[in-house]
Amino acid sequence: MKFNNIGLSSQLQEGLEMMGFEKATPVQEQAIPIILEGKDLIACAQTGTGKTAAFVLPILSILSNKKQSNKVKALIIAPTRELAKQIDMQIEGFSYYTNSSSYPIYGGGTGPEFENQKQALVKGTDIIICTPGRLMAHLKFNYFDTSEIEYLILDEADRMLDMGFYDDIVSISKKIPKKRQTLLFSATMPSKIRKLAENILINPSSISLAISKPAAGIKQSAYLINDDQKIRLIRDILKKKEREKPLSHVLIFASSIKSVKEIKRTLNKSGLRSSDMHSELNQEQREDTIRDFKNKKIKILVATDILSRGIDIKGIELVMNYEVPHDAEDYVHRIGRTARADRTGEAITFINQKQVKNFMDIEKLIERSVLKNDLPENYEKGPKFEIFKKNSKKKNWKKRK
Ligand code: AMP
Repeated sequence: MKFNNIGLSSQLQEGLEMMGFEKATPVQEQAIPIILEGKDLIACAQTGTGKTAAFVLPILSILSNKKQSNKVKALIIAPTRELAKQIDMQIEGFSYYTNSSSYPIYGGGTGPEFENQKQALVKGTDIIICTPGRLMAHLKFNYFDTSEIEYLILDEADRMLDMGFYDDIVSISKKIPKKRQTLLFSATMPSKIRKLAENILINPSSISLAISKPAAGIKQSAYLINDDQKIRLIRDILKKKEREKPLSHVLIFASSIKSVKEIKRTLNKSGLRSSDMHSELNQEQREDTIRDFKNKKIKILVATDILSRGIDIKGIELVMNYEVPHDAEDYVHRIGRTARADRTGEAITFINQKQVKNFMDIEKLIERSVLKNDLPENYEKGPKFEIFKKNSKKKNWKKRK
């Protein structure tokens, strides 16, 4: 559906044109009319589907038709600083031709930043995008007048609950007038999300787009490999690819900070310049790294889970998983960094003996089997793609008894 038939205000149409948005994505097509109608919404949609614009556009459209006061009208809560900033940037783009303003509020940073955030809350801006922890810190001081908030939006709600923010979210929602519209976006719908929805939404419409399948354009494959061979294989794969065509945008996920640092060191030693991204970096370093990766100054980035969700970095050509992600859903999120918005990309995952079962769960979730590559010739033989029965001896012993 074209955006000009969806009921958004004319000022927004110009913003959309400027951002190069012509047709609504499925989540936008379904969510925008419901939000414009004023109903609460629970939406199951993955990152990469255009879910940000699905809630940002109708809210901006409604606000642009309203008489403005200087109080906050909409509160968007997102799990990470990076996502909050990204949402704020999208709002800035879309609202160019409207008179709405927004401000992101997140943790980290220095004293003056807290003061600037306080000023934004006190003086007022139309839309605040915040992480839950930092908002709670501001709410303690009672200077944030929430009395005119009409829209509460939770983005990546499942992720926020995984991070332990259930109580904070409930307590934030209690500080916002009951007469409001609440929108909950989540990539997955576990029972705790339904419980939260029952708590803070009223008679919501629901839409579901996330069948948790990776975009069709992603070429997925895996290697069955022992842990001590993995870094060497990353290096060999990247070197081979680099010989074929200069690498431009590679993201490697590893679960521990230690592995992230080790991979980076090995790649750098062999002439593959790479950077790392993890929670030991301070806010400024994290922002610099994301910016440099986005504008391709950094071509290879090794990261912990911090980057697995929500962050919109366009055109990543290759995502590598140093380990199988523990949650099958996280696999979809991670490889969702590539092939966004109809591009093609590649995802390669390393599976060790212990993680075969996890990878089988992933294949079940995505309803397809992923190609298992043969290891290069001079590599130690990897595990088989079958479940390792740890207890088989014990069972036999029991039988004999
Ligand atoms: P999201 O799922 O919100 O993270 O969006 C994923 C990417 O798709 C972002 O780069 C958006 O700018 C882009 N996008 C979202 N909706 C559209 C659309 N209707 N047309 C073109 N690009 C879009």
